Amino acid sequence: MPDAQSDRQPDSQADVFRRLIRANGPISLAQYMGESNARYYDGRDPLGSVGDFITAPEISQMFGELIGLWLTDLWVRAGRPDPVHYVELGPGRGTLAQDALRVASAHGLAPQVHLVEGSHALRAAQSSALPQAKHHHDLSTLPDDGPILLVANEFFDALPIRQLVKSESGWRERMVGLEGDEFVFVSGDKPMDAAVPDGWSDAPQGSVVETSPASAAIASEIADRLVAQGGAALIIDYGSLSTRAGSTLQALKAHQKVDVFAAPGEADLTAHVDFATLADIAERQGARIVGKTTQGAWLRAMGIDARAQILAQKSAARSSDQAAVIQRQRDRLVADDQMGELFKVLALAAPHWPHGAGF
Ligand code: SAH
Repeated sequence: MPDAQSDRQPDSQADVFRRLIRANGPISLAQYMGESNARYYDGRDPLGSVGDFITAPEISQMFGELIGLWLTDLWVRAGRPDPVHYVELGPGRGTLAQDALRVASAHGLAPQVHLVEGSHALRAAQSSALPQAKHHHDLSTLPDDGPILLVANEFFDALPIRQLVKSESGWRERMVGLEGDEFVFVSGDKPMDAAVPDGWSDAPQGSVVETSPASAAIASEIADRLVAQGGAALIIDYGSLSTRAGSTLQALKAHQKVDVFAAPGEADLTAHVDFATLADIAERQGARIVGKTTQGAWLRAMGIDARAQILAQKSAARSSDQAAVIQRQRDRLVADDQMGELFKVLALAAPHWPHGAGF
């Protein structure tokens, strides 16, 4: 917090890390990423063309609408349970929720709205978009008196990862240390062979394996709630449907990739989401895997082309430029060389809930 009595600037996150490392030695990558992102998101709205990155719901209303339709269809076929809770993790500006809930209410679904959000700046934006919403710091305070319809778009990629590196003397955790004032990767001194997933133990020297204990814990919590309360979940993010070796850590600032050590707390740090591991965890906790596919395939199966056509016809009455804009937005979401292939969709449901559309 800035001190109201003086002109002192608050310490930058880089200064905080330097002090910590000088006092106690290298910190884990998970701590570096977790604290950098907490500072990054807390103080700003990073979305949009003047921000650092843009997300699917900010590209087009079609994205949130089709998610709303998916949830509504399941809810109707589950027998219209009431009460029912819409839950979104990391809802950004609240745009996806607005689009999804508009479609839902047209079909008689008016759930209570619960937003899990860590950032003060984004909470304020969400409250003006969705005045009825209740905020939560994590999933532990969500209600348990009815099924949940949960959405997480570009949430898991921002959660802290840990990296393990195969060194001469076995697997070690990748830590962040200092050389002068510069942050550098260093190897931890504790053997980490036991933390490496099955199948990687013989990997060549220099191999990197990423895991995200924070993501695993949340996937497990979602599955527990689905089993206990009923409902369904859609997790959408960039990443892979199978577990892969290699570092996917990156930093984004003003729509450009920057060095991950360049500006902690001032750039968005992300990693690819390992959907195979999230699905395994959810299944082991008793949830049902409804499907896993690419964003492009799922949106097409959900009818994005028909929706784009209707929107284009409506807007063509106003201007033909608008119709071309809608076509371009559709392409950004589904084309293989844009978001269509890189982004994946994982759908989970309670064991007794019906099958979801689009898979
Ligand atoms: N889903 C939105 C925003 C994606 S950006 C969209 O698609 O536009 C990531 C979101 O997750 C932001 O709202 C950010 O504040 C939130 N977030 C990141 N890490 C979080 C954490 N550990 N706990 C709660 N929210 C977090």
